[in-house]
Amino acid sequence: MPIPLVDLVAQYESLKPELDAAILGALEGMQLYLGKNLRAFEEEFAAYCGVEHCVAVGSGTDALHLALRALGAGPGDEVIVPAHTFFATAEAVALAGAMPVFADADPVTRCITAATVEPLITERTRAIIPVHIHGQMAEMAPLLDLGRRRGIAIIEDAAQAHGAEYAGKRAGSIGDAGCFSFYFSKNLGAYGEAGAVTTNDAALAERMRMLRDHGSRERYRHDIIGLNARMDEIQAAVLRVKLPHLDGWNDRRRALARAFDEALEGSGVEVPQAVEATRHVYHHYAILTPRRDELLDYLRERGVGAGIHYPIPCHLQAAVSEDAAPPSLPTAERIAARVLSLPLYPELTEAQVTEIAGYVREFHAG
Ligand SMILES: *Cc1c(COP(=O)(O)O)cnc(C)c1O
Repeated sequence: MPIPLVDLVAQYESLKPELDAAILGALEGMQLYLGKNLRAFEEEFAAYCGVEHCVAVGSGTDALHLALRALGAGPGDEVIVPAHTFFATAEAVALAGAMPVFADADPVTRCITAATVEPLITERTRAIIPVHIHGQMAEMAPLLDLGRRRGIAIIEDAAQAHGAEYAGKRAGSIGDAGCFSFYFSKNLGAYGEAGAVTTNDAALAERMRMLRDHGSRERYRHDIIGLNARMDEIQAAVLRVKLPHLDGWNDRRRALARAFDEALEGSGVEVPQAVEATRHVYHHYAILTPRRDELLDYLRERGVGAGIHYPIPCHLQAAVSEDAAPPSLPTAERIAARVLSLPLYPELTEAQVTEIAGYVREFHAG
């Protein structure tokens, strides 16, 4: 039986009656615009993350873009982002009119650190966006300290880290703002595009609520230039059904990751390291291996849907490297050349972990 990289059917089947009822319920009354599901989800997700405010928006990219705009980042500003991330982190900076500046990864967490960020700070640096990549929290305390010392905002990109923890605090509750994506394959996924920003800053939340709705607080009065970046009621209804299951799904991901760690011991691949005092939620189970492309083909030939997150580091993407010579960021480049995600989702079985790990060992032995 083929094993996909993610299996959305299994999760839908397990909650089908509730999900179907929620979707149909959202259509009743046709209150499709900033309605009761959106408001309820905002409260429930804020409580889940341990923050005072949540602003539901159209996507993770919107979340980052709006947080940056609300914090005042724009033309002439620089924003430090990881080279090892999904491209949207850097793209959102450009959408806000600012310039992304790329920082290298730590070899253990694969996230940016105060040490990789500090040399890049200039008088134009407006914000730093640590990404909790693959579900592993960035080392936040030194980054927060750096931000405070230099007067620079910290925006968490928690798009891969719903429910992850650092020193007992949830992802999205640590920086000035936390940005989430509910893209269908994320640990908490909607059935269309959706995202959210979390914050304890009431004024910031209010600015983002205006920005997501054409800069408006009151219908047809536009105080600032915003955009259409609202979450729709159907996505909010789906997310409300799924949110109570998130912790259980994350626990299952962690248990499967432990099973992979054990099954891959001594196989020659570098397994992801769960760092002390953090709760890794394994959005990806991303190993590092020098013969990555060959291993990917080997697994695919055996029906295993492995994937690469991500093959080209952001600082080497054509969209951003046109006119300047890109910096050399050796750790991010090493990761991009070697990283491979094995299938991991809550419905995966231990037997499938054993099977996949068996192929990985066989490949390296053969
Ligand atoms: C998915 C993702 C985004 C973008 O979210 P969308 O909802 O697809 O716009 C941003 N950053 C990271 C790290 C992501 O994984």
